[in-house]
Amino acid sequence: MARQLPVAPEPNRLLKVWRRVLERRLRTRLRAKVALEIHDNTHTMLTFQRQRSMWRLRLHHMFLAAPDDVVQALAGFVRNGDPDASVMLDRYIERNRAYIRRLSPAQMRKRIRLEPEGQHHDLERIFARLNERYFDSGIDAAITYGPAPRVRGPRKSIKMGSYSADSKVIRIHPALDQPLVPRYFVEWIVFHEMLHHVYRTRRGDDGRRCIHPPEMMEHEKRFHDYSRAQAWERENLDLLLRARVTPA
Ligand SMILES: [Zn+2]
Repeated sequence: MARQLPVAPEPNRLLKVWRRVLERRLRTRLRAKVALEIHDNTHTMLTFQRQRSMWRLRLHHMFLAAPDDVVQALAGFVRNGDPDASVMLDRYIERNRAYIRRLSPAQMRKRIRLEPEGQHHDLERIFARLNERYFDSGIDAAITYGPAPRVRGPRKSIKMGSYSADSKVIRIHPALDQPLVPRYFVEWIVFHEMLHHVYRTRRGDDGRRCIHPPEMMEHEKRFHDYSRAQAWERENLDLLLRARVTPA
């Protein structure tokens, strides 16, 4: 006869128990009925609404193990939007960031509308050619024109490109999509962002974040039109700053 193995409590059952415990703790403090839903969201950690005599709360599972002062803050925040409670909850969420599920780059990319085509410069083509020429087609990233940031009045500076290591998406400022902007200049900006994919931001000896490590800046000089692109930027920055771009 087979020996019976000890049975571990089912995770779902445990979750139910924990949820009930937290429900009770909140009920005591709110002096009202509480219906609690626990989720695994990645952005919104806490929402609530009043339904007649009952509070409905939707909370991230990090709150299941919250200490008393945090549960107290939850009650205070729900009851009357207490600003001190709000600060305390923010801190708790920050401290427990490790429990927030991280989306994979592919999942994050699905949430972003990619628009690489442009009127004058096709970013996907530029990216593919650079990838082949300089990186053995080894760079696995997506590219798009970024949404134009709303800027009032004349711009003082312009961020021509950016790279998000989380989603692996390169964004290029839509002001570059003009006939006056030469292809090699757009290529240079894209090349620079591709290098961000290769050289991750790290902390320097002084503890500060080093976005452009020296070896990256050295690598950048291998771009075929490096000095030409730099010269064009010096002479034409005004043109880019004045570019009127309608936010998408
Ligand atoms: Zn950079």
